[in-house]
Amino acid sequence: MEGPPRKPEQAHARWHPHLWHPFAQEALHDPPRMVRAGHGPWLELTDGHRVLDAISSWWVTLHGHGEPTIAAAIAAQARQLEQVIFANFSHHPAVTLAQRLCQAWPGLDRLFFSDNGSTAVEVCLKMALQYWHNRGEPRRQLIAFDGAYHGDTFGAMALGARSLFTTPFAPLLFAVARCRYPATWWGDDTVEDREQSALHHLDQLLEIPTAAVIMEPLVQGVGGMAMVRPAFLQQVAQRVQAAGALLVADEVMTGFGRTGALFASHRADIQPDLVALSKGLTGGFLPMAVSLVREGVYQTFVADNPRHTFFHGHSFTANPLGCAAANASLTLLNARPERYQGFADRHRPHLETLARLPCLEHPRLCGTVAAIDLRVAQPGYLHQAGRQIQRACLEEGVFLRPLGHVLYLLPPLSMNDAQLEQCYGALVRAVQGLTS
Ligand SMILES: *Cc1c(COP(=O)(O)O)cnc(C)c1O
Repeated sequence: MEGPPRKPEQAHARWHPHLWHPFAQEALHDPPRMVRAGHGPWLELTDGHRVLDAISSWWVTLHGHGEPTIAAAIAAQARQLEQVIFANFSHHPAVTLAQRLCQAWPGLDRLFFSDNGSTAVEVCLKMALQYWHNRGEPRRQLIAFDGAYHGDTFGAMALGARSLFTTPFAPLLFAVARCRYPATWWGDDTVEDREQSALHHLDQLLEIPTAAVIMEPLVQGVGGMAMVRPAFLQQVAQRVQAAGALLVADEVMTGFGRTGALFASHRADIQPDLVALSKGLTGGFLPMAVSLVREGVYQTFVADNPRHTFFHGHSFTANPLGCAAANASLTLLNARPERYQGFADRHRPHLETLARLPCLEHPRLCGTVAAIDLRVAQPGYLHQAGRQIQRACLEEGVFLRPLGHVLYLLPPLSMNDAQLEQCYGALVRAVQGLTS
């Protein structure tokens, strides 16, 4: 016989005594909810509630949760070959993925595997520096942008902007030259001046011999869904190339349709020398990353001299399960490109509605990413209003995770119109209900 029904919330209302959650503060935050299953845009909680995942579980769940063809591809691969050392062996899932990604990106012909966005950036960084070393003309200066985020490992952290996240480690982070970033939004009439000023700044920085310039094309993610215009990126790319520096595109978030094109660099019409990809790569099923590289860069590593070797690798390099998931995800993506190409049009009317609320400003939209800022006196990641909005939305069955005062949606491609409307409805009510 079944016992009395348990009170749903109580069972999980405490922080677990053994788990340590990322970016989480037990002393201040609500404890994590327990998830039982995921289907499409839905997360099913153990307490019986359903929640719409409006940020694709930290931007990885590309199509939706539990996508059956990806699940099947992983299961089939697991029965065939689960893992093999990639220094001495190769396998078909890796070969197929390399062929498909290099074909999708004309001009980038080499693919190096790692296992998350940060390591994909680390790999690009080390390759760029060793490229100059192998050529016998070492260059040391690295340039990144204000507000950039490139990951949480040390090299990636150093490339990112100094922030609340990096303060405890600041003395150990290597120096990176930082260029102004002309973020823009609907109705911004200052953008031209700020773009010119940023380009002038870049020209000055490039007077020092530069190994590489790294950027998140079109949209800076963690930095607050800060968007720039394609024309600005074209000007940046021209200058970087003229200075002979390598251009690194961190497309860990923007890759795989997020900005309305398969890759943001394509939408911006720029050609980087190295690209970091991860998050959406496996459709959000498995941790995997790749760095795509121009053949000319690779060739400086090919030499009789063993010292030219790229001595870098991870235990799970080119994990066959990850490759199988990525191949299945690419097949889905290619079968219905209109799903990412058309997403901006589905966001637009909702964002227009939000933009009419007096406490919001700077609406902006790029592909599947829609963002708007709370008008607050002290903007930033620690701003409390974001947390209040998160809580209010969750009560309505919508999971959002504002970046401080920055509200954004980044839904999986399978989210339908009614579900999208539900997300925006919850957000509007949450914003209207703000007390502070
Ligand atoms: C998330 C992210 C990273 C880091 O990826 P992880 O998989 O979290 O290590 C790097 N760059 C960008 C642009 C990102 O959005």
